[in-house]
Order: sequence, then structure tokens, then C-alpha cells
Amino acid sequence: MENAKLIIVVPCYNEEEMLEYTTRELVEVIARLKSGGKMAEGKILYVDDGSRDSTWKLIERLSHEHVEVVGLKLAHNVGHQNALWAGLEWAAEHGDVTISIDADLQDDTRAIDEMMDAYGLGADIVYGVRRERKTDSWFKRNTALFFYRLIRSMGEEVVYNHADFRLMSRRAVKALMAYPERNLFLRGMVPSIGLATASVYYDRKERMAGESKYPLSKMFALAMEGITSFSVSLLRWIYIAGFVMILLAVSAIVYSLCVYHTGHVVWGWTSLLISIWFIGGATLVSLGIIGEYIGKIYREVKRRPRYFVEKVVDGDDVKLMGRDF
Ligand code: UDP
Ligand code: MG
Repeated sequence: MENAKLIIVVPCYNEEEMLEYTTRELVEVIARLKSGGKMAEGKILYVDDGSRDSTWKLIERLSHEHVEVVGLKLAHNVGHQNALWAGLEWAAEHGDVTISIDADLQDDTRAIDEMMDAYGLGADIVYGVRRERKTDSWFKRNTALFFYRLIRSMGEEVVYNHADFRLMSRRAVKALMAYPERNLFLRGMVPSIGLATASVYYDRKERMAGESKYPLSKMFALAMEGITSFSVSLLRWIYIAGFVMILLAVSAIVYSLCVYHTGHVVWGWTSLLISIWFIGGATLVSLGIIGEYIGKIYREVKRRPRYFVEKVVDGDDVKLMGRDF
């Protein structure tokens, strides 16, 4: 694929501390790939996901300094998955192959070379897979492990230890863009495209600067998205829980009848109280799960746009989007 044009898509949310370094490294990667004859042209597409710091100013400056850098400014913070989608959509219009990577470069850029090799051999999708998670905290590592297991047990196809570091050919991105859903969980969507896939393995590094933009609450939200966007097995669990509860109730009735026949009638206040609480809790949990799905349906039927591009910068060329509305 010597004549291919590669676009590296980097979603950025408050990444002013990282971008200078990130650009230096990615420019190097592009030069290396070019001289190795693995592609003809490379661009770095920064998608500014409504940052509150000076990320966009920095992107504009970097775009002036490096011919490789292009910036896409989203009008509002739409979250990592939507920002990535915006970048991929642009990239599929302007290049032959895309690689998505986080701005903090925790994912080893050396894996990009291998990804391009796999692409050269005909793969449409190449997953970057973490070999181990030494640099993540014990908590993050284990919650992630639990999450992958859970999601797999629900019959969803996810690649173990793969986040959003992946190569996609234009064909694969176009296929992805045909997915109409608004609840995005790309890790689950991409494997369902099919096409020729491959994996490359790498060690994940620590974030160099800035802090994680995925606090526990966002991580939890992503995990919920992953589960409820793909399977309705949670709903099925409600039935099972309800069934178990009926069994419990039946045995409780049998038990209380036996106690009645022994003559202790007012006895049993504690167990009564406990069951009320238990059943109340179980009902609320079930309602919560149903509510989660209804919320999703609500969001899907609204068909809101995923993002809105405010500006595109490519060197001296700055386009304000939507002026012709
Ligand atoms: N990010 C984004 N929008 C958000 C949150 C994060 O575009 O609302 C970007 C962020 O700039 C980074 C990537 O998503 O490039 C992953 O975030 P981070 O590295 O903080 O996540 P972690 O590695 O801690 O899971
Ligand atoms: Mg990170």
C-alpha cells in the first residue's frame, strides 16, 4: 500500500500539556512510515472535543508549524466516542486508512508500523491489543478485566484488552458510518463489521502529562453503554431474579405455616421487615434496569446529531463550518 494516505485520528479533551509532545512523536512516526515505503502521505487529525483549556489554540499553532497537522474543532464536548466518530468520518473522506490513538500516547506508537504492515497484507481492521496492564492501577486493571468478562458472558463480541487504538481502512470506516445508533460503543461495533481483521500487541505506558479524562464516573458510564447498547441480557436477568424471589417467597410461606402450627403467632416481625426491604430493593433495581433501556430508546428516537464541527484548520487554511446554513 505504498501509495496510501494515512490519517491518524486523535481525540483531544483538555490536552494542552500533551499535544506538543504527541505531535513530535507522531510526525516522527509518519516520517518513518514514509521512508519505509509503507505509505505515501500521512496526516495527524486532532479532534478538539470542546476543550476548556488552550488545546484548540495549540492545535492551530501546530497546524501552522507542521504540514502534517490538521485540526477539527467540535462545537461542544461530546465525549471520547463521538469525537472519535467525527474524526473517523472526516478521515474516511480525506484518506485511505485511519489509525485512532489517544492524545496521551499511552499506546505504543511503534505498533503503528505493524498495523500498517497488516494493512499492506490486506487487513481492513487491525486491533491494537495491550499485552499487559502494568502501568494501570490495580483498581483500573481489575475493573476492566471484570468488565470484559461480563460483556463477553453476555454474548457480545469485544476484543480483550483492546481500547480504541486501531487501524481501519476507508472501507471499514464507511461500513461503520452506516450504523445509525447514537449510543456509541466503538469497541463493540467495530468487531461486528466483519471484514479481514488482524491484531498487534504492545505494552501500555503511563500517561506522561495531564490527568486521565476518564474519571470513575465516565468509566462506569462507558461500561454501562457497552452492556446496554448491545445486549438485552440485563432485562432477562430481571426475570431470573424474579423467579428466584418467588421460590424464596414460597419457602417463606411454608416456613411460616410450620411456625404457625407450633403456636408462636406474633413471632416473625424481623423476617417480615427484611423481606419488605429486600423485595423493595429488588423492585427498584429492576425498574432501574428497565429505565436504562428506555432512556436509550429515548435517545435513539431523538436522532440527534452526534457532533457539530465548528472549524477545520489545515495550516493557513481555516474553514468555519456551517456558514452556508
Ligand atoms: N477524550 C475526549 N473527550 C472526552 C474525554 C476524553 O476526546 O470527553 C479523549 C482524551 O483527550 C484522550 C482520550 O479521549 O485522548 C482518552 O482519554 P484518557 O487518556 O484520559 O483516558 P484513559 O487513558 O485514562 O482511559
Ligand atoms: Mg489515557
